Amino acid sequence: MKNIHEIFPLLDQPRKIAIVMHLKPDADAMGSSLGLYHFLHQFGHSIQVISPTNWADWLKWMPGCETVVDYEFATEKANKFLDSADWVFCLDFNTFFRTRHMAAKLKKITATKILIDHHQEPSAEDFQFGISDTSKSSTAEMVYDLMVDSGHVQKMNISIATCLYAGVMTDTGSFRFPSATASVHRMVAVLKDCGLAHTKIHEYLFDNFLENRLRFTGHVLLNRMDIFYEYNAALISIPWKDLVKFEIKTGDTEGLVNYPLTIKGIKLAALIIDRDEEIKCSFRSKDDFDVNTFARKYFEGGGHFNASGGRSTSSLEQTVQQFIRAMKENASQLQQS
Ligand code: 5GP
Ligand code: MN
Repeated sequence: MKNIHEIFPLLDQPRKIAIVMHLKPDADAMGSSLGLYHFLHQFGHSIQVISPTNWADWLKWMPGCETVVDYEFATEKANKFLDSADWVFCLDFNTFFRTRHMAAKLKKITATKILIDHHQEPSAEDFQFGISDTSKSSTAEMVYDLMVDSGHVQKMNISIATCLYAGVMTDTGSFRFPSATASVHRMVAVLKDCGLAHTKIHEYLFDNFLENRLRFTGHVLLNRMDIFYEYNAALISIPWKDLVKFEIKTGDTEGLVNYPLTIKGIKLAALIIDRDEEIKCSFRSKDDFDVNTFARKYFEGGGHFNASGGRSTSSLEQTVQQFIRAMKENASQLQQS
């Protein structure tokens, strides 16, 4: 994979460009992709943003979101674009596996693939150009860096600022994680100078749900959470029937995994959800417990040091037992204060 700087001199020659993100995109995947879209648009490129799957309703306010194609819903249209694309930017993931049914297509097409991502252990051989930097707070921050490093920061506008802010704010846990560096705050200052209405964005992202989601959260915290004080760990496990009963949709479970970490002393929080098609796992940790390695070792997943995800093809009950075994195997790490 060559350094992304090598494409900078080529940016102003109009091309056919696809921008793709990971499945079930979060605000960083969608925000960085749309930020890049609004940036590249100014060079006269023909651009299509593609998500491997559908996405949460609470992302739909983002400028440009209405132009994004859902690969599972419009496979033919997306494939046609990908077949003739010159460049494909791959944002907020680093292995094709994270694009579900689009993975085979991405592998096959001849377009130049350009990676912009901050997750650990990239499959660098799949990308011709790119930047992979785990020290970065968010892919949104990396898109901002691209604008600065390519000498085009003057192309910043309110649409780009809005999309990038959504990404960096959510991936830093509203600027509380260590990844919210001085550079991140300097970037936000630039976005503010451009007219960014940050309060509105927080409202769009956090005060924009339906009643059922809040009731569901209450139910889950009351009935589906186990605390393992001996291991400084907690687990929320949710059966499929709960998702049906509360009419839970894509994105409605986002953030649930953080609740157990608000309990004093808890270092590891896990969320295991039976999504019917598969069992989805999320892990969050504090301090020195590495959930990237944990997810890779026990749950076919990965991600970041303090936030990761994975999956299982076993039943919910078996996956819960697998978590409990894994937690016990890591007892000495978890019990360190
Ligand atoms: P979440 O729990 O929100 O699904 O994911 C937490 C973090 O881990 C996100 O940055 C996400 O991109 C990453 N992640 C989630 N699932 C996987 C996975 O299966 N493999 C890898 N490599 N990363 C994942
Ligand atoms: Mn991200």
